[in-house]
Amino acid sequence: YIPAIAIVGRPNVGKSSILNALVGEDRTIVSPVSGTTRDAIDTEFTTEDGQKYKLIDTAGIRRRAAGASAGSTTETLSVKRAFRAIRRSDVVALVVEAMACITEQDYKIAERIEKEGKACVIVVNKWDTIPNKNHQSTTYYEQDVREKLRILDWAPIVYCSATHGSSVDKIISAAALVE
Ligand code: GDP
Ligand code: MG
Repeated sequence: YIPAIAIVGRPNVGKSSILNALVGEDRTIVSPVSGTTRDAIDTEFTTEDGQKYKLIDTAGIRRRAAGASAGSTTETLSVKRAFRAIRRSDVVALVVEAMACITEQDYKIAERIEKEGKACVIVVNKWDTIPNKNHQSTTYYEQDVREKLRILDWAPIVYCSATHGSSVDKIISAAALVE
């Protein structure tokens, strides 16, 4: 049995970057397994202490029809994909973007996580884009996330920066705790 972590969130928040950071050079990639669904990619990896996980990236989310506008079919499809990934996971990493507002789409995903009774870690990615970080700004940000994703008030929050490779490991340790 290998616990599955679904990496879900709106397009462009950094889901694929997180996966790449996690399975990067300092990790052992066991095997990249094609997803059981047409759109998702499952990647098995082993942590430094030997624990195996399966990461479910919802890769298809990036496909964007030319000229597609917000609220178009593409967006609807991405929500469905996220829902499918949630259903077959043990833990959900709900990725949101620092500096961006938490939207209705984020909330819909949060509701589904709660409804499916899945363990969850809220991942605030692109933390590097927040200028002049200090204890106060972190507290302020956390309050905002808590308020807008109230439905997941039990989920730990991890702040990370996928492209800088910083703190992405915390997603896995947090997932191990809630799983
Ligand atoms: P996805 O659509 O959620 O899979 O997002 P991607 O992983 O493809 O990333 C979308 C964009 O955000 C890319 O241009 C990434 O380089 C950028 N990005 C991802 N993570 C970070 C981060 O931690 N910090 C910054 N500054 N940019 C990031
Ligand atoms: Mg992606």
